[in-house]
Amino acid sequence: MNKLDSSLVARALREAGFAVVEQATDADAVIINTCSVRAHAEERVFSHLGHLKHIRKTRPQTVVVVMGCMAQRLGRRLLEHEAVDIVVGPGQIPRIPQMLADAIADRSAGKHIAVSAEIRAAGSESEARRLDEFEAAFDSDENHIKSQAFVRVMRGCNNFCSYCVVPYVRGPEISRPPGAIMEQIRKLAGGGIRQVTLLGQTVNSYEYPAGDRTYYLADLLEMASAIEGVRWIRVITSHPGKFDDSILHAMAGLEKVCPYLHLPAQSGSDEILKAMNRHYTAAEYLDLLGRAREIVGDIAIAGDFIVGFPGETEADFEATAELVRRACYKNIFVFKYSPRPGTHAVKKLADSVPYEVKQRRNGELLDQQNEIAADYNMRFVGRDVEVLVEGLSKKPHLNRAEHEDNPQLIGRTATDYIVVFNGPESLTGTFAKVRIGKTTALTLFGEVAEGPCYNKNSIAS
Ligand code: SAH
Ligand code: SF4
Repeated sequence: MNKLDSSLVARALREAGFAVVEQATDADAVIINTCSVRAHAEERVFSHLGHLKHIRKTRPQTVVVVMGCMAQRLGRRLLEHEAVDIVVGPGQIPRIPQMLADAIADRSAGKHIAVSAEIRAAGSESEARRLDEFEAAFDSDENHIKSQAFVRVMRGCNNFCSYCVVPYVRGPEISRPPGAIMEQIRKLAGGGIRQVTLLGQTVNSYEYPAGDRTYYLADLLEMASAIEGVRWIRVITSHPGKFDDSILHAMAGLEKVCPYLHLPAQSGSDEILKAMNRHYTAAEYLDLLGRAREIVGDIAIAGDFIVGFPGETEADFEATAELVRRACYKNIFVFKYSPRPGTHAVKKLADSVPYEVKQRRNGELLDQQNEIAADYNMRFVGRDVEVLVEGLSKKPHLNRAEHEDNPQLIGRTATDYIVVFNGPESLTGTFAKVRIGKTTALTLFGEVAEGPCYNKNSIAS
């Protein structure tokens, strides 16, 4: 979500005549997009602001903007920071170009703020209209990976998981009209985008009533599949609580829809899931994975987990470890519970699990998953996979002059596996076939193979 917001703002600023520079020390304006999901993300913003305060000693004219969820959450308190000039919540980002231009034109005009006053009230509807227009103008994504773009299908969240700040800072669920979404995908495809990722906090809750029918996520997948130029369509993130099988059938039946689900479980203990307000049990979650594998076949599944939620016992944690053993994930993201101000959990439940215990459980869960994935991934050895090439890998020593014609590249399969191989940099943004020679828990290594490989069912089975 934040990557998309950054791209939207960058596009609008480019249109307004701004250009991106590499160094904060060369910039007229620095914009920090922020996340409030965990305290650590917010702490990092404060550390960036400390650095900017230092830069402003020699460049006092640099305007500093803080946008995103932290801006919405802290509002005026953030504006009081010495290094901050403008604070803009996620619902107000269309205003950034004008606010920035005003601030640059008149540095004496003081500080500015635009956050949503009533994030959960009706006021957000006009805001949604403005955001829709802002978003509809998005027709290329120079910020993100070549040939790929995010397309938001819905904003906000209604779930109020007890630990989560998102509903308070991003507001209620609002689904965008299917027509606007398709028009945007058509524009992006026309501009060379080959993979679109349909985004929502709980993208499977997409619901848009129009006349005598209602559009759901499966309908969007079908409509997007019909758009020429688009090759791969992904969706993130899904909530396991109300997952309709129509999505799985769309995934199975539509060639362009990637067989991949990010389906956070958060815990494997029913007690904890209840306290988290997740509305499913571990057995129901595993049942959904079973249906997904039955209907879609070789689908890759990624999960999120929170360890050290208030009251989590060793037995609760063991239930989570057991779920991870049974789920057969492609990968998991594990987070240490972080109390967030304003949430139900912070008001009602003490942060009872010591940091060292959270740390240990975090490590144990990842180690266990890595072992499972390392074993499971060996099935790829000797197979050809199709990847969308993202560009140079992040190993600079393998990308220097001596490897100029054949540097190390990184790509992803439709099932979101990371594939590392050598090839010309000009492959970036195109689809390539790679023969896998070696695998680890998180990465497949191979070399470019000859011939087309355009059938989804031959990608990662
Ligand atoms: N809408 C998505 C995820 C949003 S936040 C969903 O519901 O799946 C991304 C991840 O951050 C969550 O899946 C959760 O695992 C983690 N997270 C959210 N709040 C957290 C908190 N207070 N402490 C630790 N992790 C948290
Ligand atoms: Fe947060 Fe839960 Fe909504 Fe995800 S579904 S954004 S975890 S409240």
